Amino acid sequence: SYADAYESTLQYFNGDDLAAKVWVSKYALKDSDGNIYERTPDDMHRRIASEIARIEANYPNALPENEVFDLIKNFKYIIPQGSPMTGIGNDFQIASLSNCFVIGNGTQSDSYGSIMKIDQEQVQLMKRRGGVGHDLSHIRPKGSAVKNSALTSTGLVPFMERYSNSTREVAQDGRRGALMLSVSINHPDSEDFVNAKLEQGKITGANISVRIDDEFMNAVVAKENYIQKYPIHSQNPKFEKEVKATELWDKIIHNAWKSAEPGILFWDTIIRESLPDCYADLGYETVSTNPCGEIPLCPYDSCRLLAVNLFSYVENPFTKKAKFNFELFKKHVGYAQRMMDDIIDLEIEKIDAILEKIESDPEGDEIKATERNLWISIRKKTIEGRRTGVGITAEGDMLAALNIQYGSKEGNEFSTLVHKTLALAAYRSSVEMARERGAFAIYDEKREKNNPFVQRIKDADPELFEDLQKFGRRNIALLTIAPTGSTSLMSQTTSGIEPVFLPVYKRRRKVNPNDQEVRVDFVDEVGDHWEEYIVFHHRFKQWMEVNGIDTERNYTQEEINKIIEQSPYYKATSNDVDWLSKVEMQGAIQKWVDHSISVTINIPNDATEELVNQLYIKAWEVGCKGVTVYRDGSRSGVLISNDEKK
Ligand code: UDP
Repeated sequence: SYADAYESTLQYFNGDDLAAKVWVSKYALKDSDGNIYERTPDDMHRRIASEIARIEANYPNALPENEVFDLIKNFKYIIPQGSPMTGIGNDFQIASLSNCFVIGNGTQSDSYGSIMKIDQEQVQLMKRRGGVGHDLSHIRPKGSAVKNSALTSTGLVPFMERYSNSTREVAQDGRRGALMLSVSINHPDSEDFVNAKLEQGKITGANISVRIDDEFMNAVVAKENYIQKYPIHSQNPKFEKEVKATELWDKIIHNAWKSAEPGILFWDTIIRESLPDCYADLGYETVSTNPCGEIPLCPYDSCRLLAVNLFSYVENPFTKKAKFNFELFKKHVGYAQRMMDDIIDLEIEKIDAILEKIESDPEGDEIKATERNLWISIRKKTIEGRRTGVGITAEGDMLAALNIQYGSKEGNEFSTLVHKTLALAAYRSSVEMARERGAFAIYDEKREKNNPFVQRIKDADPELFEDLQKFGRRNIALLTIAPTGSTSLMSQTTSGIEPVFLPVYKRRRKVNPNDQEVRVDFVDEVGDHWEEYIVFHHRFKQWMEVNGIDTERNYTQEEINKIIEQSPYYKATSNDVDWLSKVEMQGAIQKWVDHSISVTINIPNDATEELVNQLYIKAWEVGCKGVTVYRDGSRSGVLISNDEKK
């Protein structure tokens, strides 16, 4: 039952109530009646290890089950994220193992039929788990002519609302169906698009991002006009609109400042750097991203995610002897890449089960057609490209454990070295797999020779580059940095590439004032009694323990501040990391991540729009593929930064 699983899992996580609740409700194996079949995450890790070992056995130099288990147990080294964590070896659900999908009709079709088809595909995918993104640039702009009873078209915004509502309708067992809608800045409705969420309660089921091209950015910097077109970037457009680039840019900045959206995608950087886009004419033209932006994708491609826990490679953490074990890290990254490739074989089995389920439904062939074709298209790209999403978590705790300040020059350099090491080890592994298992089906060395990412590999590791040319690689694109929202709750670390949010915070719990055991710290306006207690970030607590600081005492705020001051988390939290330095860090790391990076630049409540402007331009200049800011307090219920905002 839930209660039994919760009890044993709470013990497993040393009393971490949040981790236990999230694991039992999201990831433990359960049937549709709610019976739970796993008592602790180790049962899950067994299930995953045995499935990966089953696939490994089909290939040379197979990893045995116990070795896989040791890599994933306790969320210590390698963590398959969300969808693979729940889905692998789970016969109670017919679901995909993908965290991310992108769909789309191609640039030509914007009929009602094709718009509704996307709506249906979106729902069909969310039903099988995973976030979905699609691009709206192909929809004709507001006011343009249509040959039906409407005479002029409505533009993008009503369709955003439709797709958002569809997302809200599909529940995903504890996870929300997440949606990304994107549009090109070249589209004449892009201004309406970026303003669409300003009205309270509108389009609440979608994240929105604008694809910004270099021509637009140059026009912003030079204060020139910019010509929007439909079809976008067409030589022979049906519709044109000249706009002041700075005016449109200022609106984007204002909205991001005000409500953290739209996100920005530096589209030319994404395309220029993209390996799959070397195969654009074969259907691999990147058109949008997954909901949190870390995986740019072509239509009907998917990606499964896995995070390597960077904290665990620090030996003697928080001591003077602390050291990052690069050798172990490289070895494990190689395994992580292999496990991701194995998970693609598992995914094909899952897609086949989905297709079988569709065929066995008593619906007519016409009804089934869209869903069936959807999964056939996804299956094709999964096999052909074998895309993987190897990422990391705990960047912030890794730096702290090494006594390096997040956001410092030293910190940025060390992080870049870690991600470069990761990239080269993952590519090495993918090249080895090409030798053992075969390269991805459409691999063609000639198509990739001018790609800047490949050039970087050539400069950093000529031997790897030579082998890449000789054998190809197993996977079309390999790397990412995801937000690792629930993953980092399991690993009890900072998430993704982010610094710690708060090393120490206070929470209140409601108490019965007649109870002898409790201490009443606060009585609220309705007369409820509350006890305040201190919550330490897990690794901050570890730092305290290593340094012999009592973790049980009830400290005053002043005492807490003093303790933080001595710690490696001092001036290294999301609210006090230097913003410009963080953008530079992202740009430097992006050079070693072939997909994208999900990252938020946190700025204080009183930050100006001009600061956002500067950060965005800087992000473009240093080679970030995307950027989002979050101004403290600009959105309610997103983050808790102090006690009042519970
Ligand atoms: N995702 C989703 N719904 C959610 C959370 C995540 O569809 O509620 C997808 C989405 O594509 C996102 C990706 O999973 O970009 C990775 O999210 P995250 O790293 O937070 O995954 P987690 O750690 O929760 O497994």
